[in-house]
Amino acid sequence: MIDTLDIEITPTSQSRLSQVDFDNLPFGKVFADHMLIAKYENGAWSRASIQPFGDISLSPATSMIHYGQSIFEGLKAFKSESNDILIFRPEENWKRMNASAVRMCMPEVPKEIFLGGLRQLIALDRNWVPNNSESALYIRPFLFATDAMLGVRPSETYTFMIITAPVGPYYVKPLHLKIETEFTRAALGGVGSAKAAGNYGAAMYPAMMAQKQGIDQLIWTDAKEHKYLEEAGTMNMMVVIDDTLITPPLKSTILPGITRKSFLELTKEAGFKVEERPVSAVEVIEAIQSGTLKELFGVGTAATTAQVEKLTFEGKTYDLPSNAHRVISNSIGQKLLRIKKGIDPDTHGWNMTL
Ligand SMILES: *Cc1c(COP(=O)(O)O)cnc(C)c1O
Repeated sequence: MIDTLDIEITPTSQSRLSQVDFDNLPFGKVFADHMLIAKYENGAWSRASIQPFGDISLSPATSMIHYGQSIFEGLKAFKSESNDILIFRPEENWKRMNASAVRMCMPEVPKEIFLGGLRQLIALDRNWVPNNSESALYIRPFLFATDAMLGVRPSETYTFMIITAPVGPYYVKPLHLKIETEFTRAALGGVGSAKAAGNYGAAMYPAMMAQKQGIDQLIWTDAKEHKYLEEAGTMNMMVVIDDTLITPPLKSTILPGITRKSFLELTKEAGFKVEERPVSAVEVIEAIQSGTLKELFGVGTAATTAQVEKLTFEGKTYDLPSNAHRVISNSIGQKLLRIKKGIDPDTHGWNMTL
């Protein structure tokens, strides 16, 4: 029934669309005309509404600010050549948001509000979906605690919102990453597999320290031994050694990426070997030295496929094979993008079409 969801819509009287330079989009700074908002109180969700994008007002005691019950999602909508709007695997984002909600002791968002609200919001702002090649409408659903109280306990009231932003590519150049062996992103049993706001705040200081040395981002390693690779910044990471694609297995320290999952499926279908198993820093460095490491890259909605050209480990920097020879990441990355944009047939039923 998500098409007929009763949502109160207040359209903007002044669209900002004509002021946007779609050929020069900074990531996440320009927002579409409308936003969705729904509130949870007394154990129930209120009717959702769509309003002009704008500021919201909160008590300074809002518990999300003090204790961090705040989670988010990220997905993209593309415009096809026939002017359809294609949203990539939104149901997966809905499920993952609710998994994050459970871990953070927050209420789950009903499907009608998340997917039905998304549908109506994007339909209203469909002219904000860019159609040039690397661009998309980035969609940011989020849920946060709103009780105005300083006691440390789960909030009883929450707000769910969706805002959207037309975006170009996230990383424009191949990356220089460092394998981090001092700081930790996530520990077993923690919240690394939830898209919880605090995870990103906690990663900023270590990333900034590396950026001062000219490094773009970190590859996080396991909290216990700092031996095994986990994630590359806010992307899942993949390596190709010989002719096998290898990625760390999912556990409580790794965000279960929808790009990761889709990429693995397409790679298997294309007939390449895929392994989900622990990968150590030492294994990667030895593979670089022996010439068996063919590709190293990150995958995620924002970045799509981000190639890594330099890798720093224990103070030494290694050059990786050039982009031109990266068969798996280039072919599967292109394939995925072609499905998302409606160029190749969507045989998996991944796209929601508007
Ligand atoms: C969002 C995110 C990813 C990528 O997930 P996608 O669903 O592919 O966008 C990977 N790692 C972290 C830490 C993330 O926050």
